[in-house]
Order: sequence, then structure tokens, then C-alpha cells
Amino acid sequence: MKCHTCNKPMNYTKGLEFNEQKIDGWKCASCGEIYFNPEQVHKALLMNKLKKEAIRAKLGKVRSNLILRLPRDVEEALNLHQGEEVLLRVENNQLKVTST
Ligand SMILES: [Zn+2]
Repeated sequence: MKCHTCNKPMNYTKGLEFNEQKIDGWKCASCGEIYFNPEQVHKALLMNKLKKEAIRAKLGKVRSNLILRLPRDVEEALNLHQGEEVLLRVENNQLKVTST
């Protein structure tokens, strides 16, 4: 990728500062211009949004099991996929779900 400002080659760089998070992107060695990885920008913005408020999720039922329906934003921000396992922990009447 070339810099749109000075037309010099850009280096893919990890751990660039974005919204108090670290994401990857391309950095121009010449003028310092940065282009963030758009997919990671999307996730970082979702994370920011999700951190600000409690997330509503509906409980459903499949046969005898209760199922927890997670909103799409949570799925994308945490990179969750159908069929994957998560860890549940019950603490002080709260349920914590951890992606592995
Ligand atoms: Zn440049």
C-alpha cells in the first residue's frame, strides 16, 4: 500500500493507538500518515459502544435448555461463532460469559 499523502510505501504495523485500544494498520515511514485496518476499526468501535452500556439479550428455550440470544454487535465485537464453546461462571447471582 502507498501513502495517499506522499506516495511512499507504507508498512503494516501492529499495536497502533486507536480509541484507547491497540489495532493494526499501515503507517507511512516518511510522513507518519496512518491507515487503520478497517475490519479492526469496526470491531474497536463496536467494543467502545458495547462497553458503555448494559446489553439486553433474550432468553429462549430449545427443548429443556434455556438459550441466551446474543445481539449481532456482541457476536462481531468478540468474534464469536455458532458452535463454539464459551465459559460460564456464576458469581454473586451474576452470570459471566467468557469467550475462549
Ligand atoms: Zn506519507
